[in-house]
Amino acid sequence: MNDILSVKDLYVEYRTDKGISGKKQIIHAVNGVSLDIKKGEILAIAGESGCGKSTLAKAIIQLEHAKSGEIVFEGQNALAFNKQELKNFRKHVQMVFQNPYSSLNPKMKIIDTLKEPLQINTKLSDLEIERIVEEKIELVGLDKSCLCLYPHEFSGGQRQRIAIARALVLNPDFILADEPVSALDVSIQAQIINLIKELKEKCNLTFLLITHDMSVIKYLADRVAIMYLGEIVELGNTFSIFNNPKHPYTKALLNAVPKIGKRMSQGNILTGDLPSPENLPEGCKFHTRCPKVMPVCRNTEPPVIQINNTRCVKCFLYNNQDV
Ligand code: SF4
Repeated sequence: MNDILSVKDLYVEYRTDKGISGKKQIIHAVNGVSLDIKKGEILAIAGESGCGKSTLAKAIIQLEHAKSGEIVFEGQNALAFNKQELKNFRKHVQMVFQNPYSSLNPKMKIIDTLKEPLQINTKLSDLEIERIVEEKIELVGLDKSCLCLYPHEFSGGQRQRIAIARALVLNPDFILADEPVSALDVSIQAQIINLIKELKEKCNLTFLLITHDMSVIKYLADRVAIMYLGEIVELGNTFSIFNNPKHPYTKALLNAVPKIGKRMSQGNILTGDLPSPENLPEGCKFHTRCPKVMPVCRNTEPPVIQINNTRCVKCFLYNNQDV
C-alpha cells in the first residue's frame, strides 16, 4: 500500500500565560512524531487524555501550528503550502470532531451546513450542490427529509452522522476522526463505528482515528500507534499489538481494558498521573510510571527499535538483536 500522508519529526509547542511562578511556560504537546499513513487503512492513535493525540491530528490538518517537522502529502510538504495550496489540501483531508453537539452550527439548517463547504470550495451549480448533499446524507444512513431540520432536532448519533456527511461532501481521500464516538451513548457508539467501517470500504477512504478506547481500536483499526507525552512509543498492526504488546505502556493500556469474568492483574495496572507536558521527564518519558524502569531509563532517551517491517518500539528492554 502506498502512503497517503507522512509525518516526519513533527513538534508542536504552546506557550502558556504567566502562572503562579510569574513565568510563561512551554507545553511540549507533540515531540518528534514520525509516521506514515497508508492509503485505504485505518490508523489509530491511542493514549491517555493529554498525551498529544488530538494536537497531532489538528497539526496535520493545520488547525494547530507546528513548530518544526514535515507533513508530506502527495510528495509535497504541507507545512510550506501557500493559501491556495492549503485550501486544496483541506479538500482532500477532512476532520470529524469529538462532539457533534458543538461541531454543528445550531442556527443553520442541515442543508446549509452541508452546502457550505461546496459553495466555498467549488464552482458547482446550486442544483449539483443539492444533488451531492442529498447523496451524502443518504450515504450516512439518514433520510433526505432531515435536511430542512436544525441540529437540535437530532439525537447525538444522528448529529455525528451529519458531521460525517459534512466531512464527505468534498469527496476527501483522508479523514481525521478525533474521538468520534466518545461523546455518544454506548448504545449508539456501535452504529457510528460500523458506519466508519462501511464508509472506508464504500468510499475508499483512509482514516486517522484518534481514540483512548482500546476496544474501538481493536474492532476498527488496521494499525495502531501508541502515544505517550507527545511521542509514539510503539507502532504496529492491530493484531500483533493486541496479541503481543512490547512496550510497558502498551501493556498497561491493554491491561486497563476490563474483561468480563477476569480480575485485573495488579502488577500491570498503570499508576500515577501523566506528567505535565510543561516539565517533561528526562530520559524515557515513561520512566516515572514504568514497572520495568532501569537506571539508564532515567537519563537517556531510548532508541526506536524496528522489530520488523511493520512494528517498532521505543524502549531499552529491546535491542535490534533480540527482537
Ligand atoms: Fe520502561 Fe525503561 Fe522501557 Fe522506558 S525505556 S518503557 S522506563 S523499561
